Amino acid sequence: MDQALSFVPSSSENAVAPDGCPAQRPTRAEAEAAVRTLLEYVGEDPSREGLVDTPKRYVQAFEEFFAGYGQDPEDVLLRTFDEVAGYDDIVMLRGVRLESHCEHHIVPILGVAHVAYLPTRRVVGISKLARVVEIFSKRLQTQEKLTAQITDAIERVLQPRGIAVMISAEHSCMTTRGIHKPGVACVTTRFTGAFRDDPRMEDRFLRLCAEGG
Ligand SMILES: [Zn+2]
Repeated sequence: MDQALSFVPSSSENAVAPDGCPAQRPTRAEAEAAVRTLLEYVGEDPSREGLVDTPKRYVQAFEEFFAGYGQDPEDVLLRTFDEVAGYDDIVMLRGVRLESHCEHHIVPILGVAHVAYLPTRRVVGISKLARVVEIFSKRLQTQEKLTAQITDAIERVLQPRGIAVMISAEHSCMTTRGIHKPGVACVTTRFTGAFRDDPRMEDRFLRLCAEGG
């Protein structure tokens, strides 16, 4: 099997790019050739010692950055447990490190995600919420889409009484190029159920986010 295809989506419907993949994917050799073209485009010599393995490394880095296309976030959430002794209040994962890439410039989006839900009868292992953030992050993204996808995946699988997601992130496309504004965070939120309908619940979530610094 071609190594470049090793992280291709599985048969699961959710493990594909939201906007669909081209039917015929290029080989790894073709991907590396494309990187050499980019190097030449900026005036470099891809055959010099320091760059000779760069196309290979760059394509490998791409496979790592975009490994989320081959993974199904809803699969991750399927394993739940019900031994919660009647616990029905906020379950929150605060300050999940977020590393994604903007789909307009293919440069990093770096920040944190706060994810909370109100369980009904069953809960999911808390590390699974972090995995959902990670899987969607390892795709080309906008922060708005990422926020919605995380919320919607939790909604579909767990159907909790409410979900609250906040992402605060710096976009390298505006900190290191374009408008050049470092230190500016983009903040997005999405609330469902009790977090949307009850201002006190929304307020509790926002306070918990703030306590995390
Ligand atoms: Zn961008």
